[in-house]
Amino acid sequence: MQTIEKYNFAGKKAFVRVDFNVPLDENFKITDDTRIRAALPTLKKIIADGGNPVIGSHLGRPKGVTDKYSLRHILGHVAGLLEADVLFADDCIGEGTAAKVAALKPGQALLLENLRFYAEEEGKPRGLAEDASDEEKSAAKKAVKAGQKEFTRKLASYADAYVNDAFGTAHRAHASTALIAEYFDADNKMFGYLMEKEVQAVEKILNDINRPFTAIMGGSKVSSKIEIIENLLNKVDNLIITGGMTYTFTKAQGGRIGNSICEDDKLDLATDLLQKAKEKGVNIVLATDAKIADSFSNDAKTAFSPVDEIPDGWEGLDIGPETEKQYAEVIKRSKTILWNGPTGVFEFDNFTHGSRAVGEAIVEATRNGAFSLVGGGDSVACVNKFGLAGGVSYVSTGGGALLEAIEGKTLPGIAAIGKNN
Ligand code: AMP
Repeated sequence: MQTIEKYNFAGKKAFVRVDFNVPLDENFKITDDTRIRAALPTLKKIIADGGNPVIGSHLGRPKGVTDKYSLRHILGHVAGLLEADVLFADDCIGEGTAAKVAALKPGQALLLENLRFYAEEEGKPRGLAEDASDEEKSAAKKAVKAGQKEFTRKLASYADAYVNDAFGTAHRAHASTALIAEYFDADNKMFGYLMEKEVQAVEKILNDINRPFTAIMGGSKVSSKIEIIENLLNKVDNLIITGGMTYTFTKAQGGRIGNSICEDDKLDLATDLLQKAKEKGVNIVLATDAKIADSFSNDAKTAFSPVDEIPDGWEGLDIGPETEKQYAEVIKRSKTILWNGPTGVFEFDNFTHGSRAVGEAIVEATRNGAFSLVGGGDSVACVNKFGLAGGVSYVSTGGGALLEAIEGKTLPGIAAIGKNN
């Protein structure tokens, strides 16, 4: 397989799919530029070799051309971080775009306007009436798919090489994340540095496991984590099921959970998962005590309670001190650790203690030689909030993409680079 390190970009144009889907405030100021910084090594390497990156990204979920989602808003910031001359094409496949690409001078990069201004990027029809008939839906789908070929071909025509550095969208089979790869032979398509790191981190968690392996799965709902939990049961030694999911398990085992969040239609599933874990010899670790609150608010009255004796009118919003200790013991004994999802409502300062304790235990285990991967949305916000990101082995930039990879699914963006090799 071709690698970015080996490839010499001298005199070449490279279409680089990045994930510059950064949060902007009402004045279009970037509030968190982590995603841009994450792609810099790839872009810098191309420029240092003497090549020109043609940068493609999406921003937000536009339904068409919308100034709010224009990548022009981030152009200056990208140029500043890249320390390079970055030009802008205000239409990713417009008339003049090919000419702009052709005119790039050594050291210059070109940022293309939001790829999702075109429905063809995602290949999904837009603007269909809610009462559209099945025929209308199918005709619209056909039309956008037909247009997608031409859209993809145009994007590919700008470049000699294709580099995918957008792990955040690797689970999407979009024009620029996957389909475009067909236009490049195996020697001229590759992952960027970020994508390589993400793929390696997932590989360590799924296939190169140092034991004991502990996964900490938190978050609000069992229903959104079923597939990942089922796949992890085939891999892990310890599975800490925490956060809002706790209470569905506690109730399934006959406990009293008061007003805690619970999916009543998933009680059987919870029992099933516990049974499966037993059969597979996986140690499931559930909370024994909770920090409870008399309302869903940071200022609520609080108390600690056994997790299965929560009074009516009260709800568990974080784990209690006994559980913290229990989790920490398991985590500190581990050699491979995956963390996805907080132990409680960490957005409320009075319910962050459990998540922080988990983060700190992971940092300690990492210091003692464990490999730790944190990813999938809220746990990343947690480690950042607690200033612990530097103490774990890897913080993934992929939310949905990371979860799908750990579910064992093949990600189109990754598969597309591997094809023809
Ligand atoms: P998820 O997006 O599924 O990973 O869930 C993350 C969300 O779960 C966060 O916004 C937390 O506030 C929420 N959460 C965690 N624990 C609880 C809980 N005990 N009760 C309600 N929400 C929770």
